[in-house]
This record gives sequence, C-alpha cells and structure tokens, in this order.
Amino acid sequence: MNLPAPKPEQQNPSAVPAAAAAGRSLDTHLRRYAARTAGMTASEIRALFAVASRPEVVSLAGGMPYLAALPLETLSADVAQLLATEGQTALQYGSAQGIPALREQICQIMALEGISAHPDDVTVTVGSQSGLDMVTRIFCDPGDVVVAEAPSYVGALGTFTAYQAEVVHVPLDDEGLIPAELERTLSALAAAGRRVKFLYTIPNFHNPAGVTLAVHRRAEVLEICARHGVLVVEDNPYGMLGFDGQTYPALRSMESENVVYLGSFSKTFAPGLRVGWALAPHAVREKLVLAAESATLCPPTFTQAVVSRYLAQHDWMGQIKTYREVYRERRDAMIGALEAHLPAGCRWTRPDGGFYVWLTVPEGIDTKAMLPRAVTQRVAFVPGTAFFGDGTGNSQLRLSFCYPTPERIREGVRRLATVLEGELEL
Ligand code: PMP
Repeated sequence: MNLPAPKPEQQNPSAVPAAAAAGRSLDTHLRRYAARTAGMTASEIRALFAVASRPEVVSLAGGMPYLAALPLETLSADVAQLLATEGQTALQYGSAQGIPALREQICQIMALEGISAHPDDVTVTVGSQSGLDMVTRIFCDPGDVVVAEAPSYVGALGTFTAYQAEVVHVPLDDEGLIPAELERTLSALAAAGRRVKFLYTIPNFHNPAGVTLAVHRRAEVLEICARHGVLVVEDNPYGMLGFDGQTYPALRSMESENVVYLGSFSKTFAPGLRVGWALAPHAVREKLVLAAESATLCPPTFTQAVVSRYLAQHDWMGQIKTYREVYRERRDAMIGALEAHLPAGCRWTRPDGGFYVWLTVPEGIDTKAMLPRAVTQRVAFVPGTAFFGDGTGNSQLRLSFCYPTPERIREGVRRLATVLEGELEL
C-alpha cells in the first residue's frame, strides 16, 4: 500500500527533536562520567563479532569453544533433575565465596597441575574475567603499573585500563615470557620510581600467542617477581587443553604466597555458565571475598550447582579429552593450511594446546588496515594491535582454530593467503 508522504506539519513532531535530545543527553552524560571511563573503549574483537558472525565469513577471530562437543541432552536432563531435587537451594542466594562443594572440587582439579590448596582460599568468580576485575580493583590505583606479556589477553588489558593502570609489556618468545626481559623491565620501572602491582601472565597455551612458558623458566619468573616485590597473577583458562594430555606445573604450585591463580570452566566445560575461580594467598582472600560481595553479592548459585553436579556425576575428564581431540585436529588443519598457502615471509607459532595461532606477516603489511579487505574476501581475524596496550602489533594477527570445522579453517586460511598476497602487491 502506497501512502502519500505526510506534509511537513503532519510529521511526528517529536522525531527529529528526539535525535537532537539524545545527542544533548549524551553530552550531559559524558560530562558526568567518572574519569576512569576514559579507559573503557570497545575492544576490537567485540566490534568484529557482528561482521564475523555472517555465515559467509570464515571467522578465525573469536575464541568460542566448540560446544557441539558437549552431551547437551544428558546435561539438560541433569539440569531438570537438579531443579526438581535441589531447586530451592540452587536458586537461592549463596555465599560470596561460592558453594563449598564446588570449591572442594576445584581444589581437586588444581591438584592436577600440582597445586595443593585449601577450599577456604578459593573464591568462585563469574568467569575468570570477574576474577581479573576483582584482583585489579583490590590492587591497582590509577597510575600503577601492571606488567604483562607482549602480546596479552585483550580482556585483561581492557580491565587494567578501566582501573587506570598502565600496562607495560615484556616480550615473549616460543618458550613464553623471557625472564631476562622481565628483570630488565622491572629494574627500569623501579629506577623510574614506578609502582608495579603485579605481573599478569598466561603461562599455558597463551592467548593470543599460542606459546607456553617453558618449565625451566617458571621458577626464575617467580624469583624475579618476588625479589622486586611484585605479585604474580597467573591466568590459566587453557591449562587442561594440552593436545597430548600434557599439563605443566602451575606457578601457584611452586609458590603459594606471591601468586593469585585464576581458573575457569569456560574452556573445559562451557563459558555461558560464567563459572571460574580465584585462588589467592590466604592473606588476600578476605579482601577478594569483600570485592566479590560488593560486585555480585554471590556468584550465580544455579550455575555453580550445575557445574558441581556435572563434576560429581560425569566423566568430565572424558569431556576434556574430547575437547582436546577436537582442537588438536583443528590446530593441525590450521598449521597444515598455513604451511601450504601463506606467502614467504610469514611466521607463526605452533601451539600444543589451547585455541590460538599468532601470525607475524611480512614487513609493510598493516593487519588492522587489512582487516576490512579480508572481510570482503570472507575471512576474519583479530589484528595484533588489540593485544597490546601501547598501539604496537601492526604486523601481527591472531587466528583462532577452536570454532570452525577443519574444512572451514582450511578455506579461511586459503582466503587469508589471497588477502596477504594482495597486500604484498599493493
Ligand atoms: N583469560 C584468558 C587468557 C582468556 O582467554 C579468557 C577468555 N577468552 C578469559 C580469561 C576469560 O574467561 P572467562 O570466560 O572465564 O571469563
């Protein structure tokens, strides 16, 4: 039906003024915001999700676990049973520290990486992201320094800047964080009178670098931090996802008083549950629980109960083995395709666990500028700049192999190779 266009005086009188009012209101709120919000900017990954999720695009961008590998029918029966038998407690408020049964199970899981911990020192968090948030909240004042690997996890960098901490990067190589560089950086920061609050490190199957901190470097990293009076925050969501079933001794297993360990069920079970944990030195635990209380009152009782029941009744280790097999096959597909198709001058890491490959492209290619052209060619990645707090990372990018099938990975890498060849001709 074709309606005649309304005469100007018949148009909704509030339509245009509403847009102007929204603009004015935005200005008003901008003036109201706390200074710390200046550090809160949209991550490059989030902005990417909209384009990358179009079906024609092979997304090698996001780090989403492959949940089709979960036995969803069994889980739904479990959840129904949980509600029927324990609904009144599972849907009730709980303790800020998390449900005791789950904290005990978490201690058993951490024992697999050599950690001997008491459930009293475990705080359940809303994913390890909220652990990161709370640790930063209790330790960092504006202007404090957090030392992190170069590159580092984008979500952690966002948290640090939201608390107005400055991130100083320390290079890594194929064996993870380089101890001599850590020593040099901490000495320089001390000489400059800077207050370094903690080292944030992802020792196993690093996001985004894909590398693992060599066991022979671990004690040295701990010793350097202890000597400089710097706490270690060990973020370990991928530690159980070694493709050959290998696990590495956690930093927390070697030193209990100077390490906060963050764990998560997001990659070993499911991220939508939002269940992770923080194991803090005993002296820190109380502050952490107070921070948790003020943030969320308590972590979700329901999903904690789901995780606890799953751990008690299911072959959760079998599920982790399934995940390892799925991701190993995808890693192989990605590495094989990179070897077959990428132009000379590209270098990449060879992860033996986790979700990510870190790719360095030939000099002169800017991966951020290249991304729109890649999306036109129906492939997405995350430009390296997302993983640095100092704007570097232009000649690098992260590829995730966790979600697409091996066939899609091969197709995505073929498309990426075409894009890179095009860049070299520009
Ligand atoms: N740390 C690292 C290194 C991660 O890769 C992620 C998720 N991508 C997180 C923390 C946050 O995980 P969670 O879902 O447990 O909040």
